[in-house]
Amino acid sequence: HASRTDGVDKNVWVEFTQLAADYKAVNLGQGFPDFSPPKFIQEAFCKAVSGGPIMHQYTRAFGHPPLVRSLAKFFSRIVGHEIDPLEDILVTVGAYQALFCAFQALVNEGDEVIIVEPFFDCYQPMVKMAGGKAVYVPLRPKAASGAVLSSGDWVLSAEELASKFTPRTKAVVINTPNNPIGKVSTEELQMIADLCIKHDALCISDEVYEWLTYDGAKHVKIASLPGMWERTITVGSAGKTFSATGWKVGWAISSGHIVKHMKTIHQNTVYHCATAAQEAVAQGFEREYEVFGSPESYFQQLPAMLHLKRNKLASCLESVGLQPIITCASSSVDEPNDFRFVKWLTKEKGLATIPVSAFYSPEHSKEFDKYIRFCFVKEDSTLDAAEDILRKWS
Ligand code: PMP
Ligand code: GLN
Repeated sequence: HASRTDGVDKNVWVEFTQLAADYKAVNLGQGFPDFSPPKFIQEAFCKAVSGGPIMHQYTRAFGHPPLVRSLAKFFSRIVGHEIDPLEDILVTVGAYQALFCAFQALVNEGDEVIIVEPFFDCYQPMVKMAGGKAVYVPLRPKAASGAVLSSGDWVLSAEELASKFTPRTKAVVINTPNNPIGKVSTEELQMIADLCIKHDALCISDEVYEWLTYDGAKHVKIASLPGMWERTITVGSAGKTFSATGWKVGWAISSGHIVKHMKTIHQNTVYHCATAAQEAVAQGFEREYEVFGSPESYFQQLPAMLHLKRNKLASCLESVGLQPIITCASSSVDEPNDFRFVKWLTKEKGLATIPVSAFYSPEHSKEFDKYIRFCFVKEDSTLDAAEDILRKWS
């Protein structure tokens, strides 16, 4: 086998999704909605599928024309820059492939890529497979003052980030809102932008959760800051945007001179993405463009619904006392605490979650093995089932 597969063979989603299925656990692990996408987009998909032969055949390699047009129209308004649908956008097989194309197209052997921890786990293997070296800088929780930490209490130190830049730094990867902790970066963005500009580095900004902000937090696109459009690759996902993760439609938006190289990777790997799904997503964005900012907008309805689910889960966890739950993990395998605990919880209690140290580099994971991630993008009945398990046990 090729050596590029060495050391990247373990995958937290593969492992824990299988475990949840094997034990038929209530699944607050893998992040996907167990409810349906909104009616309008299901209807758009049905219409696309019954829309004649062309919807079943190849479309434009770099993005179905109606989709790149609607993405350009929609996001030009938000980023404050006229996005060229044909030059500045690449439609991909989910955000995963947008990230893959970015690393393959932009990272050379020996280049360094700074990744803010905790990070969505695929960044590190993707950097490695491109021949690059991942360099980590952690968000650090402010000292707890008794109260439950909110994700806003995890902070990035400007000095620490600055110290990671070297002449080999090619890019900084950020993810806001962040998976797994949900932090929405705001004031840090200018600091990150200043450093990218100073060191002539790119910024790969994973914004798949851009609509999922709560408590008045507002997502800001780093590409909209002065001097950043030319050096930012913004990654998005229809899976997250329209609660349809199985459609696997994603995109990268950047300046044409960057997207050009990502297109080269794309055309020589998957070539293009499912036509009917792209057509439906295009219709979804057309609709959202019209209702943007109004209560009819799914981009308002979704966070409003999830906000309630977040609170429901949080009060359940609080009422059963999260601290004692976490510390009762005990087993003896040579694995991080949170991995052992999540396995135990799945097998013995039938509740699946995700260990948070999976979102850290090997260097730092030991410092962060006392957290587990509960996904609340689930039907209330699923959350109730989880609550039953926790209550019976506590
Ligand atoms: N980035 C983050 C932060 C994610 O959580 C995910 C998983 N949904 C992805 C990228 C990949 O998204 P997609 O399913 O569109 O490939
Ligand atoms: N992004 C999803 C999550 O964070 C799952 C990704 C996957 O299953 N590969 O839960």
